[in-house]
Amino acid sequence: MTGIIEIYRRWPDRAACIKHLETVRWGGSPACTYCSSDKVAPHREASRDRWQCWACHKSFSVTVGTIFHNTHVDLQRWFLLVSLMLNAKKGLSSCQAARDLEMRQPTVWSMMHRIRAALVDDGALLTGLVEMDETYVGGKPRKANHRSDDPPGGQGITSKLPMSGTSN
Ligand SMILES: [Zn+2]
Repeated sequence: MTGIIEIYRRWPDRAACIKHLETVRWGGSPACTYCSSDKVAPHREASRDRWQCWACHKSFSVTVGTIFHNTHVDLQRWFLLVSLMLNAKKGLSSCQAARDLEMRQPTVWSMMHRIRAALVDDGALLTGLVEMDETYVGGKPRKANHRSDDPPGGQGITSKLPMSGTSN
């Protein structure tokens, strides 16, 4: 399990968060988030986390197309919330998380909602943040084992994550 202190140590600032996302998403060979071209280079004028694509001429950052894109919440808080959720064996209330992260509860509630959805779509991007307890989380979603009596949308990893869905 990866605790909050460990999360702080590993990703002490935004640059570290970005670097981690780039590694998990691209594995050392960055690709344009719009056209998938690998003819990209670090953007010279913009901030350090932006890239320039020479194929479609757009600039992008690793957060494009992820839940981290276009939010006003800093990446460290996102990372911390993901770890809190994945570590909370008995579920995490948005009120508790809001206190831990010193944020407003409605903001945390909507972040948790997006994180849950993202765990289904692209779990690897998020589960890379913490050392998963496999017996608990169950590893990657296995569609083949999906039981027909599972509720719609509840297949795979989400059905094994005991996170409370209410904003109590
Ligand atoms: Zn492109």
